[in-house]
Amino acid sequence: MNVLIVEDSVRLRDSLARGLTAAGFTVDLAADGVAACHHLDSFGYEQVVLDLGLPRKDGLAVLHHLRHRSKRPRVLVLSARDQVSDRIGALNKGADDYLVKPFAFDELVARLHALARRPQEARLLSFSVGTLNLNPQARQVDVGGVPLLLTPRQYSLLELLLRHRGRVFTRTEILDRLSGTESDASDKSIEVVVFGLRRKLAQAGLTDVIETRRGSGYLIP
Ligand code: CA
Repeated sequence: MNVLIVEDSVRLRDSLARGLTAAGFTVDLAADGVAACHHLDSFGYEQVVLDLGLPRKDGLAVLHHLRHRSKRPRVLVLSARDQVSDRIGALNKGADDYLVKPFAFDELVARLHALARRPQEARLLSFSVGTLNLNPQARQVDVGGVPLLLTPRQYSLLELLLRHRGRVFTRTEILDRLSGTESDASDKSIEVVVFGLRRKLAQAGLTDVIETRRGSGYLIP
C-alpha cells in the first residue's frame, strides 16, 4: 500500500516512515502542506497520514485540496488536536479517520488496514432530493436527468447541504466550508451564492429545495 506521510516533526516523520515501512507499506514523505499537495497532484496514493498543524498550508487546507478528486486517497488525520470539534471539523472536510497524538503505533497500523478494507461503494453515493440528483464523483447535478450547470461555489453549497440534510448551516459555516483559502469571501457573498443557486433550481422547476432559517442559516430538509 502506498502511503504519503505528511508531518512536520522530523522525529515523528522518520519514526512513522520506519515503522510503516517495516509494517509493509510503501512510504513517501512530505514536511509541509504545500509539499503534500504537490505529491498528491503528482503521484497516486492509497492512503495519507495527515498532520493538521503544518507549515505553509495546514492539514485542513490539504483536505480541501483533495476533496473534489474523483479518485481520492483515504486520509487518516494524526493530530495533537484532541477536541471533538477538531475531529468533526476534519471528518466533515473529508478525512476518513482521526487518531489523536500521542498514539499507539499498532493502532495506527490497524486503522490504516481497516481503512483499506472499507468498501469503495460508500464513496460512490449520489445524493437526491425529489428529482434533483447530485453525483459527487462526477461533480454533476441533474434534475430528472437534465444536467444543471452550476458554478463551483453553487455546486459546493448544494453538495454541503445535500450531504447533511436536515442540518442548518449558518452563513459563517458555509463561508468556512466554501472559501478554503480565499480571503475575499464574506457572509454577503454566501447570500449571492444561495440566491444564484436558488434561481437555477427554480428555472429547473424546483422552487423550495433550500430553506432559510431566519437569523440562523440554510438547510435542505
Ligand atoms: Ca505538526
